[in-house]
Amino acid sequence: MRILHHHKTIHQQLQINRSPPPLLSYQPSIASTKMAAAITGLAVSSPSLLTQAVVSDRRFRRRSASVVRMTLVGEEKKTYTLTKSEEAFKAAKELMPGGVNSPVRAFKSVGGQPIIIDSVKGSHMWDIDGNEYIDYVGSWGPAIIGHADDEVLAALAETMKKGTSFGAPCLLENVLAEMVISAVPSIEMVRFVNSGTEACMGVLRLARAFTGREKIIKFEGCYHGHADPFLVKAGSGVATLGLPDSPGVPKAATYTTLTSPYNDISTVESLFEANKGEIAAIILEPVVGNAGFIPPTPEFLSFIRKVTKDNGALLIFDEVMTGFRLSYGGAQEYFGMTPDLTTLGKIIGGGLPVGAYGGRREIMELVAPAGPMYQAGTLSGNPLAMTAGIHTLKRLKQPGTYEYLNKITGELVQGFVDAGKKAGHAISGGYINGMFGFFFTDGPVYNFEDAKKSDTAKFGKFYRAMLEEGVYFAPSQFEAGFTSLAHTHEDIQQTIAAADKVFKTL
Ligand code: PMP
Repeated sequence: MRILHHHKTIHQQLQINRSPPPLLSYQPSIASTKMAAAITGLAVSSPSLLTQAVVSDRRFRRRSASVVRMTLVGEEKKTYTLTKSEEAFKAAKELMPGGVNSPVRAFKSVGGQPIIIDSVKGSHMWDIDGNEYIDYVGSWGPAIIGHADDEVLAALAETMKKGTSFGAPCLLENVLAEMVISAVPSIEMVRFVNSGTEACMGVLRLARAFTGREKIIKFEGCYHGHADPFLVKAGSGVATLGLPDSPGVPKAATYTTLTSPYNDISTVESLFEANKGEIAAIILEPVVGNAGFIPPTPEFLSFIRKVTKDNGALLIFDEVMTGFRLSYGGAQEYFGMTPDLTTLGKIIGGGLPVGAYGGRREIMELVAPAGPMYQAGTLSGNPLAMTAGIHTLKRLKQPGTYEYLNKITGELVQGFVDAGKKAGHAISGGYINGMFGFFFTDGPVYNFEDAKKSDTAKFGKFYRAMLEEGVYFAPSQFEAGFTSLAHTHEDIQQTIAAADKVFKTL
């Protein structure tokens, strides 16, 4: 049933450039309307100023310590400059490789240089030159309830009074573990780590320990962190830098990594055929986010579940990106498809460094000290990260959250693709709840090869122009975008209007 439903959904998503699904109508929040009316009553009457006032009010509430920046009609528009960012990045390049601590941030694939961020709040961020942006990166996923959420900050301040790290068990670990286990269908036991990379390293060792086999299948364009065995055809960061694989990864580490195009049943079938009794697991992003936004076909999902079961291999969903984003129970709940093991990250740390892996009890009990498979971490389960995760999940669990994400994301992608097509561009896009993507190609996009047909030079131009318009997307054509509960109808409309303007100039 779920799969049939999913089939329809995916079909719609892949075809969004052809037959757009109807969009739900949306009314601005009562609070913002009221406040707009209040401001209007005091000073303004023109409809354009009314809109400005609503926007300013929203930002004021988000940044209570800052000054309301209301552009009055006739006031000169601030020119977009990045002088301070340029100076800071120049200095950074002398201090850190490429000036950054994670490669995609360096803007190599879109040209220009990164903006240096000063602060974030809700759906917005501000750079050190004072430019403001609507943010669709959300710190690469964690900020699903909005940046610097007041409740999360208050909870962190309380926890911090007791210390920042114990290196010993704390009650907060039980609370977050309980929340994760009750939310994610495949997880009966969980181990917290400090990043998605660590989660994937742990889960791989566990799959090998459980099956007594070494080979794994991963898909082209899927990223599972930067551990050696996964750095084969690993999507965005590696692809956009033009590195086929990374130097320094020994052949022995990737010898047991078999790869297949995503959504490709026959290649996976032949890999099982050629490696009978040797494959420990299939690992995949259940919706690819590291090669742009690519959903699985329902046939592909059913097939990988069956072929792993039939061959005594494990199925691992890497839900570092999709966990708590596609639905509260992740992609596995959304698709109604239960893997054997799952990795999580990003959202479960609420903006602090956390990763996790979990699965069936009989498998997880192999992990030390319950069992012999070694894996450890000095800061794992630390009270601050647990606190941010707990309060983020609490908010997400409230009724209507994923419906809201779906509504605003649909509005964004639809408006965006329509504007692009109207300006004569080949463009396609898709979304599921809080995750979306678009390509400068007609699509449909089923795998990384399809994604690579996208006009990346055009994306670079588009990207830089959108920054000037105050919209921050991920600086690569091959990354998914994220919305949050803090994104408003006004944010979305402002973004579509900016895209409409920029598309006409490309
Ligand atoms: N798996 C997936 C699906 C990811 O998207 C990422 C990071 N984007 C990782 C693993 C690695 O996570 P981290 O960057 O926290 O190490």
